[in-house]
Amino acid sequence: MTSESKTSQQDQQLVSIEDIFAGIVSFILHFVDAAPGPINIWKEERSTMDIMVDGPRAAQVAGILHERDIPFSIAVPDVASLVEREQGNSITRTIRKNSGPNKTMDWMNYHRLETIYAFMDNLAAQYPYLCTISVIGKSVEGRDLKVLKISNGKSNNAGVWLDGAIHPREWISPAVVTFIADKIVRTFNEMPESVTNKDWYILPVMNPDGYEYTHTHDRMWRKNRARYGECIGVDLNRNFSYGFGEKGEEGSSDDPGNVFYRGPSAFSEPETAAVRRAILDAPCSFKVFLSFHSYGEVIIFPWGYTSDPCPDYVELLEGGTAMAKAIHSTNGHTYKVGSTKDLMYYAAGTSIDWSYAVNNIPYSYMVELRSKTHRFLLPKEEIVSTATEVLNGVLRLMDFVDRRCAGTQSCACPK
Ligand SMILES: [Zn+2]
Repeated sequence: MTSESKTSQQDQQLVSIEDIFAGIVSFILHFVDAAPGPINIWKEERSTMDIMVDGPRAAQVAGILHERDIPFSIAVPDVASLVEREQGNSITRTIRKNSGPNKTMDWMNYHRLETIYAFMDNLAAQYPYLCTISVIGKSVEGRDLKVLKISNGKSNNAGVWLDGAIHPREWISPAVVTFIADKIVRTFNEMPESVTNKDWYILPVMNPDGYEYTHTHDRMWRKNRARYGECIGVDLNRNFSYGFGEKGEEGSSDDPGNVFYRGPSAFSEPETAAVRRAILDAPCSFKVFLSFHSYGEVIIFPWGYTSDPCPDYVELLEGGTAMAKAIHSTNGHTYKVGSTKDLMYYAAGTSIDWSYAVNNIPYSYMVELRSKTHRFLLPKEEIVSTATEVLNGVLRLMDFVDRRCAGTQSCACPK
């Protein structure tokens, strides 16, 4: 797991396992543990699981699944060709290690950290009366964790938190988050009051070390870059305190070599600790917490650490449905809505369980963006349409929240 060599997706296949059940998940996890490297779990949700397998091992995996009567299909026979489509034909089959970042921000391409940070600085320089940049901490490797705050400065604004790239291979998430920031700032005066009466805290890249690593070494890296013994990386979305370590290996892993490694203790990682501090120190009280991931096209809310419904289950279902309706009416994409455990497996120590339970942020959601078809490798041509539908979803949620939270005694807002 410590290998620094560049990983290319050449000769790799994506195997999709259908009709999974709990026993199969732990079987696969053990199988992966026994042979780290050549097999990489992309995603598991309630009904299916995707794993990436090196060409030479594909037949072995197929044999094992077949032997156990586990239905599967080859979802992507050639992962490298999907990488090419994601990044355009200009890129070769290997990830370009030494190429400099494209300095100009747009939403026609996926961008390096430097470009995203320059975009944030430029936006703040152009709109100094709306924007503030702050560095809320440093990553394991010393990179800035940069937050853009958008606010008209009114003291009674409610807070909204948006973050992307807690899982760095989910490239569409920082693209969507920066798109939303750009639109809100540039058209602030045309935005409805439910948008302008908020303080927006936007962290496009929560895991900058991992994000750069997906550009320079391994496109499919999920964790941060902290070293634990021989192994690298903590799954930051298992490192928050609420429910930390619950539900055994289904909720997270205590093995540093595992892709779902939760870390030695809650907030052991500088990236999660910085987010915690930033939210606790913010002068506003937060009403909305949105963490952007990919892939799957689902909107999920607490709990992840237990199958019990959270106290505001129905309210969160309604808010999520409002978002999903706006998304659907934009481009016709259907995002499913439900609790983490409804739509996926147990996930313990997630940011949304923490934001909801510990910070009392009532509307806490994790949005799994496109794509059902291309998985993590969403073609760059789909960035704008994805970001547009999600912007509409977020704006709709603001309207929903304000209708519920009129600030009066009859306010129907949870908690
Ligand atoms: Zn994720």
